Amino acid sequence: MAREIVIIGGGIIGCTTAYYLSRHPSTSSSSTKIYLIEASEHGPAQGASGKAGGLVARWAYPKEIADISFDEHVKLATEHNGKERWGWRYVNCGSWEGRREVAPPEEGIGGTKSLEKTLGLPGGQKPIRSKRARMANHLPKDLLWLREDLTDSYVPVAKEGSTAQVHPYLFTTSMFELAKTNGVQYLNGKVTSIVCTEDVVTGVEYTNREGETERIFATHVILAAGAWSPTLVNELPITATRAHSIIIRPKEGVTIAPYVLFTEIVNFKTSAHRSPEIYARPDNEIYACGPGDDYPLPSTVDDVVVDPLSCDLIYSDVSGISHELREGTVEKRQACYLPTVSSGGGPIIGEAARIAKGLFIGTGHTCWGISNAPGTARALTELIMNGKIECADLKKLHPSAIL
Ligand SMILES: Cc1cc2nc3c(=O)[nH]c(=O)nc-3n(C[C@H](O)[C@H](O)[C@H](O)COP(=O)(O)OP(=O)(O)OC[C@H]3O[C@@H](n4cnc5c(N)ncnc54)[C@H](O)[C@@H]3O)c2cc1C
Repeated sequence: MAREIVIIGGGIIGCTTAYYLSRHPSTSSSSTKIYLIEASEHGPAQGASGKAGGLVARWAYPKEIADISFDEHVKLATEHNGKERWGWRYVNCGSWEGRREVAPPEEGIGGTKSLEKTLGLPGGQKPIRSKRARMANHLPKDLLWLREDLTDSYVPVAKEGSTAQVHPYLFTTSMFELAKTNGVQYLNGKVTSIVCTEDVVTGVEYTNREGETERIFATHVILAAGAWSPTLVNELPITATRAHSIIIRPKEGVTIAPYVLFTEIVNFKTSAHRSPEIYARPDNEIYACGPGDDYPLPSTVDDVVVDPLSCDLIYSDVSGISHELREGTVEKRQACYLPTVSSGGGPIIGEAARIAKGLFIGTGHTCWGISNAPGTARALTELIMNGKIECADLKKLHPSAIL
């Protein structure tokens, strides 16, 4: 069967799906053409997929996609030397509670929406702490880059071997490069509409870099445009949450042990709590992100507005609990949009045949798109190439269950 597959969006979902499609056994032997269209003038991974923390967890949610995704991450890292190529490694992950040393700048700036990563843990919002763990404020022996004297509790959130990390920009761009090597064609432009004839997808229309309108034929369209997905299919219940993050480079000679931390930092003056996430990365950079806000989604990823005060607040919080972070240099201040299914649940994975036959959706991955991308990509590939999803039961995530 001849297939012309157009993927809209060069984030982690689009690029990983392009990679899985390009590797399917019948892709090379049949007349399958695969195109990936990305709107950013800088190419793929400019949105959340390049600016996320990069946690990969077996305890991510929803369970049905988290499990297969974790195994797929392991396979990809083994096959393509993910350790060197995208910073794959198993990582310690803990929940830290304590106080900060210096008073933060004005309260009331920055967002307040939790990114809700810990919802997948057995205890729900927070890991279950035993009384003993609460009383023991000792940090793990190698976690030397947090102030023990400001620590009230540290609890590992999951058992060893169930949490890993990638550098999300490097993972996404590696998937993109590998897909191109396997024959996927890249188009740089902004899709303006999905073209249908009698409720069957027949192509997409896009504006190229020169500002001209072009149309490309398609038998299958995969919508993986993250928070922008409803701009093309307005039935999608996806909302966009902006979140800020910073990258800190420690002083030369300082090594940051591999930990990802969910923090709860109390300002002893005002009793206000803040919860930045902190990620040590293999190249010794430290990523930290804050809560989300409702700042409106711009028309493209290149126009995302970064609020410097929100970034300063993250730095102020994390530098208040660590000498090493305080003495480091802030190398990047950035923001991106999380695609969230407003009716709850998600992501949405499958063919939206009620809207148009041949329209496939892969979006709404909330705070777990990096972790859950390979499972999503595998499921969409099986659906398009084999006619059904074989790797997992994803009925609950099917567009008809959510739209
Ligand atoms: C602060 C923060 C931390 C996070 N940390 C983690 C983490 O540790 N682990 C984890 O698993 N997840 C994490 N996430 C979530 C994760 O980043 C997202 O779920 C994931 O990146 C979504 O990927 P995507 O491909 O759907 O969207 P995006 O990365 O937003 O990609 C969508 C792409 O589509 C393009 N596009 C949009 N419209 C068009 C159009 N009309 N035509 C062409 N192209 C278009 C955009 O330019 C963009 O490149 C985090 C998110 C945030 C905000």
